Amino acid sequence: MIPVAKPYIGPEEESAVAAVIKSGMLAAGPKVVEFEKAFGEFCKSEFNVACSSGTAGLCAATSVLDAPRGSKILTTPFSFIATGNSILYSGFKPLFIDVDPDTFMITAEGVKKAFESDPDIKAVIPVHLYGQACEIHEIVEIAHHYGAVVIEDCAQAHGATENDVPVGAIGDLGIFSFYPTKNMGTGEGGMITGSNQKLVELAKLHCNHGAPVRYHHTHLGFNYRMTSIAAAIGLVQLQRLPKWNEQRRYNGNKLSNALKDIPGLKVPVVRQGCEHVYHQYVIECEQRDALTTHLESKGVGTAVHYPTTIPDQPYYKDLGYNTDNLPIAHQLTKTVLSLPVHPLVSEDDLSTIINSVKGFFI
Ligand SMILES: *Cc1c(COP(=O)(O)O)cnc(C)c1O
Repeated sequence: MIPVAKPYIGPEEESAVAAVIKSGMLAAGPKVVEFEKAFGEFCKSEFNVACSSGTAGLCAATSVLDAPRGSKILTTPFSFIATGNSILYSGFKPLFIDVDPDTFMITAEGVKKAFESDPDIKAVIPVHLYGQACEIHEIVEIAHHYGAVVIEDCAQAHGATENDVPVGAIGDLGIFSFYPTKNMGTGEGGMITGSNQKLVELAKLHCNHGAPVRYHHTHLGFNYRMTSIAAAIGLVQLQRLPKWNEQRRYNGNKLSNALKDIPGLKVPVVRQGCEHVYHQYVIECEQRDALTTHLESKGVGTAVHYPTTIPDQPYYKDLGYNTDNLPIAHQLTKTVLSLPVHPLVSEDDLSTIINSVKGFFI
C-alpha cells in the first residue's frame, strides 16, 4: 500500500535526540532557542515561540487577544477541528464564512463582506489549507482596517508563499504544527510566529505560566512549552524541509499534469503568485467513495480532509452551529479526496497512483 502519509525520521534525528538525552536537559533549553531562531529565519519571522503543538499555539494566540470574551472571531468551516476549537477554548465565538469552490479557503472578498455586516469582529483566523497560501496579504489589510487581529493557521503550510513572502509573519500571529504527518515533524510540537511583537511576546508568556521571570506571574498562562528533544528533531527536519517541499511540489505537479483532463475529476487549483507546498494533494470527484474503494484495491492509500465541516461536528451542532449558509464547505466534505504526495512517494508510486486513478474513469 502506498500510504497517504509517511513521516521520515533518520539517523541524524536519532543522534540529535541522543545528544539531548546525554546533556540531561530534556525540557526547554538552548536547543529550543536555537530552533526558534532557525525556524524564524526559514519563514522570515522576527518573533518566534516554540510550543508543544499547533493546537497549543492556536490556544495561546487566541488567549492573548485584547478583546472582551464572547467577541466574534472569523474563520473557515473547512479545516482541522483545532482551528475552531482554539476560538471556543479562549472564550470567543467562532463566526464561519463559506469557502472558495476552487481553493477551499476563505477569501478576501468573503472576509470583507463579513466585516461590512459585522465591524465588531475582533480577529480572523484564515487557514493556509493543504500547503497553499490563502489571500493573506489582502485579508490582513481588511482586518487591520477594522482594527482586528489576524492569526494565520500555517499548520499545513511550512514554506508556502504568497508573492514570494512566506506565510507566518504576514499576519499579527502565525502558528505552525510539527505533528509527524505535517511537512516537518517533531513528534508533537508547534511554533508561534508573527509580525506583532507585543502579541507574540504575550503568547510566549502564555506558553510559560504567564511568568516573565521564574515564580513571578504577571498573566494567567499555561504550560505549552516545547521540549529540547522536540527542538533537536526539529532542527534536523528543518534542514530537510526545503528538499522535501521541492519533492512534494514535483509529485503534485506530476499528478496534476497526468490527471487534469479527466472528466469528473478536478485537480488542485494553484493560486497565481503562490508557491504550494502540497501538505496534501486533494482532488475533487463526485464518485469519491467508489474511487476510494477502487484505489484501495490497487494499493493506493487515500484520506478525506475533511469528512465533516467544523460547524457540523456534534459539539458545534449542540452550540447551534450548522452549514445552512455554508453550502460549498458542506458539499466539499462529500467530494474531496487526498492522494499520496509526500516526499517518499517514488516515480513507480506516482505511476501506480496515476494509472489506478485513470483506470477508474476508463
Ligand atoms: C494539524 C493542524 C492543527 C493542529 O496542530 P497540532 O500540532 O496537531 O496540534 C491546526 N490547524 C490545522 C489546519 C492543522 O492541519
